[in-house]
Amino acid sequence: MKVAYWPGCVSRGFTPELHGSMALVAPKLDIEMVELDRANCCGAGVIAEHNQELVDTLNARTFAMAQGVEGAAGMMNICSTCQGAQTECRERLDASTDYRSGVNEHLKPEGLSYESNGDWWNKNFLWLLVEEIGLDTLRERVVRPLEGLRIAPFYGCYIVRPTRRLGYADHPERDRYMEMVIEAIGANPVDYAGKHKCCGFPLITMNRTTSLRQAGRHLADAIDADADCLVTPCPLCHLNLDLQQPDAAKYVERDLDIPVLHLPQMVGLALGLEPKELGMNKHVVKTGDVQRKVAALAAA
Ligand code: SF4
Ligand code: SF4
Repeated sequence: MKVAYWPGCVSRGFTPELHGSMALVAPKLDIEMVELDRANCCGAGVIAEHNQELVDTLNARTFAMAQGVEGAAGMMNICSTCQGAQTECRERLDASTDYRSGVNEHLKPEGLSYESNGDWWNKNFLWLLVEEIGLDTLRERVVRPLEGLRIAPFYGCYIVRPTRRLGYADHPERDRYMEMVIEAIGANPVDYAGKHKCCGFPLITMNRTTSLRQAGRHLADAIDADADCLVTPCPLCHLNLDLQQPDAAKYVERDLDIPVLHLPQMVGLALGLEPKELGMNKHVVKTGDVQRKVAALAAA
């Protein structure tokens, strides 16, 4: 399957191991990614607060580039925050022909135009994996079932809220996809209170205490539920849960030491890729225990 690929800025900057692991996982699932390397930041919901036409123009430009990729079934992202922000812009662009024409006027100098088309999609890798590739295909491609690994899914907010905008009417199980993928690769999904809650990332510069207490509480809940690691489809969630984990431990006044994987890293392990090539040595919280469990599976 050919897709226009929107990696987002965080996956290229702060968490390059996410972009790197996606690049290795894609060919194993027969996904041909055509990277939109001239596309722009989605605004992450921040620009929209100040200037909706500007953020809609920026995202219409990205959508127009994606629609220009010949033979692409749609556009794939690896950041649920991008998913949420872009879906919101698209909703406004699709709602009014006049508004869309005005936005497209701004794109004319580059020869671009976003065409409203109900069949065209922009999906996070999680959605694409379940809805376009399919869990049966994923199961067939697994060469190293992650048996015995207890994985706590962390969805974050933008991929589950608001359900009306995010297509839950047509795909009511989207808030269970992580568990379904975890089961398909042979591991055990762990249930815990924070899996659909906010990680606190947007608050970090305004109220560090509340932000990191929130992240720390979710991590502690996953530890109490006996998880070996968490996995997330959002690099911004990853920043609060992994990069900030040592500080979050101070705010919740307990030891936290639980690795946080990106979704393509977890899938890549089951597809036979090695932890180091998936960049699992790049995280703040060491992934050694998970790596040892995976190595033991290979040796068994
Ligand atoms: S959500 Fe963040 S990472 Fe994704 S494109 Fe927007 S600004 Fe970049
Ligand atoms: S969980 Fe955090 S980073 Fe993730 S989408 Fe929500 S606020 Fe953003």
